[in-house]
Amino acid sequence: MNLVLINIIYIVASVLFILGLKRMSSPVTARNANLMSAFGMLLAVVATLMTAGLEFRWIVVGFILGTILGIIAALRVAMTAMPQMVALLNGSGGLASFLVGWSSYHYQPTASLLTTISTFLAVFIGGVTFTGSVMAWAKLEERGVSGKPIIFPGQNVLNSLILLVLILGGIIFSLHPAQNYSLFVLIMVLSLIFGVMVVIPIGGADMPVVISLLNSYSGMAGTATGFVLLNSMLIVAGSLVGASGIILTQIMCKAMNRSLANVLFSGFGKRIVKKGTEIKGEAKPIKPEDAYLILEAARSVVFVPGYGLAVAQAQHVLRELGDFLEKNGAEVRYAIHPVAGRMPGHMNVLLAEANVPYEQLVEMDSINPLMETVDVCMVIGANDVVNPAARHDQSSPIYGMPIINADKAKTVFILKRSMATGFAGIENELFYYENTRMIFGDAKATIQTLVAEFKQAAKT
Ligand code: NDP
Repeated sequence: MNLVLINIIYIVASVLFILGLKRMSSPVTARNANLMSAFGMLLAVVATLMTAGLEFRWIVVGFILGTILGIIAALRVAMTAMPQMVALLNGSGGLASFLVGWSSYHYQPTASLLTTISTFLAVFIGGVTFTGSVMAWAKLEERGVSGKPIIFPGQNVLNSLILLVLILGGIIFSLHPAQNYSLFVLIMVLSLIFGVMVVIPIGGADMPVVISLLNSYSGMAGTATGFVLLNSMLIVAGSLVGASGIILTQIMCKAMNRSLANVLFSGFGKRIVKKGTEIKGEAKPIKPEDAYLILEAARSVVFVPGYGLAVAQAQHVLRELGDFLEKNGAEVRYAIHPVAGRMPGHMNVLLAEANVPYEQLVEMDSINPLMETVDVCMVIGANDVVNPAARHDQSSPIYGMPIINADKAKTVFILKRSMATGFAGIENELFYYENTRMIFGDAKATIQTLVAEFKQAAKT
């Protein structure tokens, strides 16, 4: 009876996961989708706790520890540090699978072939996910390791050798698990090393792709663990994470016009731009008060938000500016680049927080053909995603990445604090274009000044 009930709850939870994932495809339903999936997870946990023969003492310890760590992390993490947090969460999933695989060997060293293959996969993929994610976190935080790709001669050959030993070792272990504990330990150690090795050559703007790939790995490791434990819920949940992570990885590769193989093996930034040689012209700074006069006359305005919008927390005041512009008769749109910010959907989340109407959000592919008709394109804390070098400069590390064509607008305003580079560490020729004006300062302060000008004008 218990088993039937558990399985019914698992089916309900799976349906909630699938519906939740489906509804996450639109910002309108995403919030509700999150709640739906979280409720599904709660059901899955409760059903699993109903399994007979559980040792509750350890579960309670894990529950308390996990809850405390989760609450602290969720409260302390800044929105801009989300990728690092996601990397650590992926790593935790990988570590859990790794440990379950390891302990399951001790419980059932002479299990069926399916179980031993699954044990190998849980340990292998889980180990790679764990150390790979920790390395991705360290690179993003620049903790003890540079965020740039670490490349050395023979790297791909060495990685291929490790992978070969892992696969051969996995086959031998799966066929004769009881006699091969030392080999199993070697597989565990090599998996952990391999995780580090596959992530170190990646850096710069390729990091988001790696994180979403590791997310997918954590799902696959979960699926393998589901087969080890013969838990259908874990198999379903792991497969959903694995599949959606791969789909997201593909979407991000497409957004950067790169193949996954190119991201994983080429080393971002190997082609270095000679700073200052290609870029000609002079940046033209203007004051927000002067920018106001141009905005006031504009009939069509496009905002391009980027990472700096999140740093400045300028989303609310930006929405206020948008409202003033609309009242003034301008058509206002927000152009969203798929990799703007530091995590997929970063800009959508920020703008949703400020209740920007969804119909004003326009995807890159839809806004680009209209850019020439735009009076003012206001780039707020974005840099790489509007860098025209991506279109024509074959020596640029971001060459080929689709960008928002901000430069095609009649006037371009760039809101940032300095001439500093963005995430990819490369200069942006757009800052020197004839139709570009730089408005230096914190984005929030600049937009507040613009809003104050509109308020002043409304009074008079
Ligand atoms: P960038 O990192 O290219 O540029 C951000 C700009 O914001 C900087 O040039 C900075 O200039 C400016 N800035 C920072 N703080 C402020 C502030 N308070 N006020 C005003 N401006 C500010 O951001 P983009 O969004 O254009 O591009 C995202 C980059 O990050 C891409 O290279 C992408 O590949 C990468 N990435 C994306 C992830 C994702 O999933 N979306 C995850 C990880 C990386 P200054 O210092 O002069 O103010």
